[in-house]
Amino acid sequence: MAKLEQNSVSQKQIDTAFKEFKSIVGDQWASSLHEDKESYNDPYNPGQEFEFVSGGFVAPESVPEVQEIVRVANRLGIPLWPLSTGKNLAYGGAAPRVPGTVMLDLKRMNRILEVDEELAYAVVEPGVSFFDLHQYFKDNNLKLWMSVPGPGWGSIVGNGLERGAGYGYYSDHFASSRGLEVVLPNGELLRTGMGALPGSNAWHLFNYGYGPHVEGIFTQSNYGIVTRMGRDLLPEPEFYMSCEINCPRESDLEAVVTALRPFKIDETIRNSLTIMNLELIASFMSVRSQWYDGNGPIPEEILKVMQEKLNLGRWNAAFALYGSEIKVGDAWNRIQNAVKHISGVELHARTYQPGDEILHPRDQSQAGIPSLSEFSLVNWRGAGGHIDFSPIGPLRGKDAKIMNDLVRSLNYEYGFDHLGGFYCDARSFRCINTLVFRKDDPEEMAKVRKLFSRLVSEFAKLGYGEYRTHLAYMDQVASTFNYNDNAMLRFQDLLKSAIDPKGIIAPGKSGVWGNKDMGGVQ
Ligand code: ADP
Repeated sequence: MAKLEQNSVSQKQIDTAFKEFKSIVGDQWASSLHEDKESYNDPYNPGQEFEFVSGGFVAPESVPEVQEIVRVANRLGIPLWPLSTGKNLAYGGAAPRVPGTVMLDLKRMNRILEVDEELAYAVVEPGVSFFDLHQYFKDNNLKLWMSVPGPGWGSIVGNGLERGAGYGYYSDHFASSRGLEVVLPNGELLRTGMGALPGSNAWHLFNYGYGPHVEGIFTQSNYGIVTRMGRDLLPEPEFYMSCEINCPRESDLEAVVTALRPFKIDETIRNSLTIMNLELIASFMSVRSQWYDGNGPIPEEILKVMQEKLNLGRWNAAFALYGSEIKVGDAWNRIQNAVKHISGVELHARTYQPGDEILHPRDQSQAGIPSLSEFSLVNWRGAGGHIDFSPIGPLRGKDAKIMNDLVRSLNYEYGFDHLGGFYCDARSFRCINTLVFRKDDPEEMAKVRKLFSRLVSEFAKLGYGEYRTHLAYMDQVASTFNYNDNAMLRFQDLLKSAIDPKGIIAPGKSGVWGNKDMGGVQ
């Protein structure tokens, strides 16, 4: 455990800090009361309920307030954990890595600062959720689509900083973000990229600025608090097709990845191509006990029944095509030709033009309409909890098979179903595996903890690393990125020590502790 917990800050320092926080934000926006600590808990932690409990919260309303709070925290040695909407579920929710860290809750900073229909981009504060931005488009009759992740209640900034993926045209959410404003751990305000030029006309439009490119270091990191971010949007396309390719056999995974890869590389498929297994999609629309109530993974004969009743494949590819009707039609023809050799493959397409009502949940997501429809997966086993194991692989059929076989066999070994899928970028994929467990069953949670840890180490041995992880595994995952005697982690720690010598911002985030005397992993 981190030293910070052992040398915890004195009660006197905490009391002084909260007194000062309250004078900055107003009495109701800062508290260290017990119930306020609980409200920042991770509801899906596979373990003790308050393993990652916060030390209260402070919720500023403006950038100068954030700066003042950070200065107080620095002076008094109070660690702060920034959060935008706190919906980082499956990876720790709103909870901090080190118990007792004070939540710097940015939900009140929820202004949509700019939406430009001509250049198709938005600039938002951290508290703006996907729902909020979508509502703004509707209220202002703006013909713009954003990329939304599965559940739409999270924030544009928080999800972008975690390098999350969505279903829209610009599905890599950090890659389509540009121009940050950051409060540094000493309270100073930094503008990245072209924003460093006072009065810049292209802050949120150009990928870079001048000199070393630093935006990435503020993602999955603890080097600053992001108070503003720009995000690309798609002008509403004149034609949109939602496509599904259902492959009947477990062994079809390799073939479908191989067949669709060229269309990702040449950007015929621009949004996130997903290839999900039967169990994962079943968990969006049903609960396990509807199909099977026994122990251990669902048996093969029941999977066959599920497949038939739900009219799904064992592997189900889904993606969108956007553009003119001719362009989309041509792309769909080429894609159909590429997959038709998969015996028993089923193809579905639904088309939309501006003004059409979009009701299908998947089609809504790809059209930038946020929802919570995927969220029902948490109740697959009842008393819902889940964490995600998310390694990255090359967009090759053989890697998909190796990774899938391993994650499935380890899940089965521990008695769990395997709910998984591949979220494909142009040349790689995020192999997302949802480990669902009962929150009221300590034995089941203990098994999940062991399983997860094994997954991390077994995958690392084969050269596959995670793109993001839960609080409980941040150190373990960081320790697998250990090329050349942990050169990366040492570099990240060096930066941390220079930027945040007192370790004030999010100690331990992503396994970065900086100055070991403040919070190094023991
Ligand atoms: P969301 O609700 O969008 O899913 P969260 O608010 O849960 O996102 O934040 C996800 C993670 O990203 C947090 O744990 C925190 O470490 C980091 N984070 C969120 N917002 C900020 C921010 N404005 N500045 C720096 N880090 C942030």
